[in-house]
Formats: sequence, C-alpha cells, structure tokens
Amino acid sequence: RTEKSLLTVSDLHAWYGESKALHGMHFDVNQGELVSLIGRNGAGKTTTLRAIMGIVGKRKGSIRFQGTELIGKRTFEIARAGIAYCPEERAIFASLNVLENLTLPPILQPGGMSDEALMDAFPNLRARRRSGGAKLSGGEQQMLAIARILRTGSRFLLLDEPSEGLAPVIVKEIGMQILRLKEQGFTILLVEQNLQFARLVADRHVVVENGQVVDTLSNEALSADIDRVKTYLGV
Ligand code: ATP
Repeated sequence: RTEKSLLTVSDLHAWYGESKALHGMHFDVNQGELVSLIGRNGAGKTTTLRAIMGIVGKRKGSIRFQGTELIGKRTFEIARAGIAYCPEERAIFASLNVLENLTLPPILQPGGMSDEALMDAFPNLRARRRSGGAKLSGGEQQMLAIARILRTGSRFLLLDEPSEGLAPVIVKEIGMQILRLKEQGFTILLVEQNLQFARLVADRHVVVENGQVVDTLSNEALSADIDRVKTYLGV
C-alpha cells in the first residue's frame, strides 16, 4: 500500500443471495495506474467490479476510495463519489441514437464532458452521431459505452472486458483509446480475459482465482512469466 493508493480493497467478501462469490479480496489501485484483473471464467472478476459499485447482493470487508469507505454506501453515492462503471454488456440504449446516448448520463463531476468534447475524443462517434445504438458495430458500441461514462466526469473507471467479441484490429483501436485515457490521467481498473490486450494496456495485473487474489504482477513480470500465468488462466 502506498500514499498514492486511490482504491484499497481489503478482505472483501461478496454474495449473490446465498451463494458466495468473493472470499477475501485484497488489492489496491494507485492514482493514474491501469490495473487489470485477470483469471479464468467464474473467478470473480466481474463480481469485484460489481462489489465496488455496490451491485451485488451483500458485501463485507473494506473498499476505500480516496479515503472514503464504500461498504454501506449505495450505488448512486458511489457513482457520485467519482467512480464510473462500464459493464460487460456495454449498457447503451439500442433505441436511442449516438448523440442521445451521449447526452443522457448526468454530469456528476466538474470534469464531465460535453457531447462535442466526447465526439472530439471518439471521431468515429461523430461520424455516426445520428445512428441508432442497435445499428452500431461492436467496436462503435464499445467506444460509445466508454464515452458515456466519461460524460460523468469521473476520473476512476471500471471497465469490464472492453475487448470482448471484437475483431483484432478493433481491439487494438480500443486499446489505443484506453491508453490515451491513461495519458490524460484517468485511473483504470479493467477486467480482461484477453491476455494480449491486458499486456498492451495495463501497468499491473491482479490474478483472481476462486474469489481471491492469488498473485500480483507488473506488466514486465507477467511477460517474463507468461507460461505460468497462462496456466492460471487455463489457456
Ligand atoms: P466471467 O468473465 O465469466 O464473468 P468472472 O471472473 O468475471 O468470470 P464472475 O462473473 O464474477 O466471474 O462470477 C463469480 C462467481 O459468481 C461465479 O461462480 C458465478 O457463477 C457467480 N455469479 C456471477 N453472477 C451471479 C449472479 N447474478 N447470481 C449468482 N451467482 C453469480
């Protein structure tokens, strides 16, 4: 734990009804850092993001964000504290066009972006601004989903599998966009199954197994130890 720590998760447990999904998670995310949560299907990566946002059945332990305890807070309070969540299913409105999707989220922080600024950041979205959400390609939907959470002005982003289901060239484009956000000072916690993508963008990797953290590796350490890490992931 360092002074720069923005998010500190300690002894985090989470349940869906009677079924327990997290069994004492420990990790932190430093200011300006991009951390990936990796691990096999069902390990608890998505649940970790959902627990941070307060959208699991029950949670116990501690999640400190900028020194404030999030356990006990409700989802809208967590969002207002400055955390933005982009779920795996992207959660854009299929029946609304790009511009409508961009202007719907509330600006919650002073840094919240106008639709013009968002379309400057994502030129593909400007070209498609009158297109319905359902008409967009997977890559455009993912960009729109990320742009929507930037609207809020949060500087800490939770991204669940942004590369999922996208062609390699589009994955690379999304990766570049995410790296640009990091350069702009955003702090990002990302869930990834795609190890290549995680290595492209992340500074550090937290390995999750059975609802616990079993390893933490710098990007260099991960590259040096790639075969062992692949066995963690079952690939
Ligand atoms: P994936 O990438 O497949 O989503 P993951 O590492 O993100 O994997 P989670 O989705 O967090 O894993 O799932 C962790 C555990 O919680 C799994 O055992 C899963 O079956 C269970 N789980 C997930 N969502 C629910 C839910 N809504 N209700 C009950 N159990 C759930």
